Amino acid sequence: MKKIFFALFLMLFSLSFATDWNSEAALKRVNAIGSKILKANNINFDIEFKVSDEPDINAYANIDKEVYVYRGLLEYVDNDEELAGVISHEMGHIINGHCAKQGVLGVGIATIASQITSNQLVSAVGQQLATSKLSRNDEFEADLSGVDMMIKAGYNPLAMISLLNKITGNYIDILQTHPSGEKRLMNIYNYVEYNYSDKLKKGFNSDSYKKALLVINPNVEKRKASKKLTKKYEKEQKKLLKKKEKRAKKMQGKNSIWDGYYTTLQLMAS
Ligand SMILES: [Zn+2]
Repeated sequence: MKKIFFALFLMLFSLSFATDWNSEAALKRVNAIGSKILKANNINFDIEFKVSDEPDINAYANIDKEVYVYRGLLEYVDNDEELAGVISHEMGHIINGHCAKQGVLGVGIATIASQITSNQLVSAVGQQLATSKLSRNDEFEADLSGVDMMIKAGYNPLAMISLLNKITGNYIDILQTHPSGEKRLMNIYNYVEYNYSDKLKKGFNSDSYKKALLVINPNVEKRKASKKLTKKYEKEQKKLLKKKEKRAKKMQGKNSIWDGYYTTLQLMAS
């Protein structure tokens, strides 16, 4: 009897290994998408892509210009288009200086708290960043930045809506930080409609996107039926268009003002 149990145990053990996480393949997949987005957008940042063997549905970007994608998220996305939505969103945080800004705020707090070494400081900030709440506006901006990057790289930007609508659990960056789901969906949808109407007409073939439309369509109909709401929408989109041009310049490589602050603070602490 014992032998049978042992054999069974061995079998299960090797089975679990056979389906084990292949970090090399995962990294290759994430790198391929990330590099494609970098190249297509002529992005002058040394962004590195990493994967992490954690079950959470999560991804984040940090001050060292690294984008981390967790195993849980890789298993959760339906296709590369949705994964590109996450990766480009995280890249948006780096390019728009959100991580550096958070870093400066983090260093400020850490420096007051105690005298610690530069290395400790950086790690404290790194940890803080993984769970810190980025501002709502930063999330909106990262989404739209991501949409622009996806388009240039040949991905369907509606995949971002598809994934966002699907996530209901514990995606730290996308959810905890987070303006309400509907606002976020509308922010992306309206932007795509105004700037890339041909892409919108093409649609996206997923259940989640279809379900998202059940939330989105009533808002669009309401807006189209109201002159006041239409005006508000047009004004908002014109404002966003100016920001889009600013962001395009940022991609060409000038670090944000926050990067400068962060470097100075690091030097002061060392
Ligand atoms: Zn985010």
